[in-house]
Amino acid sequence: MSEYSETENLSPPQPAACPTACFPSHDPGYWPEEAMENWHDYKWQLKNRITRLDQIEKLIPLTSEEKAGIQLSGNKLAMSITPHFFNLIDRDDPDCPIRKQVIPRIEETFTDRSEMSDPCGEDSHMPVPGLVHRYPDRVLFLVTDRCAAYCRYCTRSRVVSGVSDQRLETQWEAAFQYLEKTPQVRDVLLSGGDALLLSDARLEKILSRLHAIPHIQFIRIGSRIPIFLPQRITPELCTMLSRYHPLFISIHANHPRELTSEVREALERLANAGIPMGNQSVLLKGVNDSVETQKELVHKLLICRVRPYYLYQCDLIEGSAHLRTSIDKGIQIIEGLRGHTTGYAIPQYVIDGPGGGGKIPINPEYVVKQDDGGITLRNYEGKRFEYPASTEDERVQNDKVSRKLR
Ligand SMILES: *Cc1c(COP(=O)(O)O)cnc(C)c1O
Ligand code: SF4
Repeated sequence: MSEYSETENLSPPQPAACPTACFPSHDPGYWPEEAMENWHDYKWQLKNRITRLDQIEKLIPLTSEEKAGIQLSGNKLAMSITPHFFNLIDRDDPDCPIRKQVIPRIEETFTDRSEMSDPCGEDSHMPVPGLVHRYPDRVLFLVTDRCAAYCRYCTRSRVVSGVSDQRLETQWEAAFQYLEKTPQVRDVLLSGGDALLLSDARLEKILSRLHAIPHIQFIRIGSRIPIFLPQRITPELCTMLSRYHPLFISIHANHPRELTSEVREALERLANAGIPMGNQSVLLKGVNDSVETQKELVHKLLICRVRPYYLYQCDLIEGSAHLRTSIDKGIQIIEGLRGHTTGYAIPQYVIDGPGGGGKIPINPEYVVKQDDGGITLRNYEGKRFEYPASTEDERVQNDKVSRKLR
């Protein structure tokens, strides 16, 4: 028999080599009694989300800031944490980077003068309720107001989770008709809330209607489900999604601890379904505001075949001052990555223009001097390099070429 037997050839692709220790499983963690089949069932995860103070107090000690925050979060942005994500919390660390993202704090009730309820000016850019059309060629389609868990800094907390006064009232038929009769839209981004929280059938209805519009070339889904609820990324979901290529997914991971073995396997399933993935992370104080943490995060993402896409300066959403960093911090982080690691691993740092300017790139300054003679640059090590301006030589060259062509 050949060394490479047929059965060996049929074995599924193996994940990239990496010490398994860097993608540990934290399950079942705080739920030691739970049957493993329940644990892997996303419906069980959803049903057993942590939403109340008494539930959380049985599992971990809370600070007084957190207790007050949970009691007051009820009419702003609900608290909800999947057991999977809750297991990443270090019960003995009040500064745990995971708890800061999902456990409300009293500081959320303080509003800074510069803060807004709709910091990206989305409501004023909706030609149809639920459809944000800011850039000429692409739209943001809000398809649900629910997520598997809620991020305390959510830029859309005015409608997300369904507990505030404002409701998301997507007008489905009007939105589809608008897209059908607007040929400049070539790219549709499904978000919310979290589109992957919809059932396979419901999501497929949306995707197939969009896919049938000839001028729509490209569909994307923005989702934190692969991180909050990796169990939802079933083989059936992946098969369904693969019918709507080219389909991209932007995930949302902020801290390397979020990339567990379950998450890695879910991302493998999506990648194997041919879905290119990017990551959008939000720069958060005490969560991921160091070069070291960001580097570990982006390296783990690449191992999972996810390309870091954007690093967002935290929007001026009401009650987020305690999580925001300075802009200098973001620039320092990019400087600490550029040249020091794989180019693919480096996200674009952006500020979403307050009030509705769209995403604006912020970069470290590598141009030391620029004048008629040329440009002086510095590299990642601080060494200087000169590059000449396009001058006399270039004009002479261009003249020669055009004379020849005549
Ligand atoms: C982020 C966003 C997009 C997509 O922007 P890209 O830079 O193409 O990823 C589109 N529309 C709105 C309203 C957005 O906020
Ligand atoms: S997953 Fe996205 S939409 Fe949902 S709460 Fe977090 S940031 Fe907001």
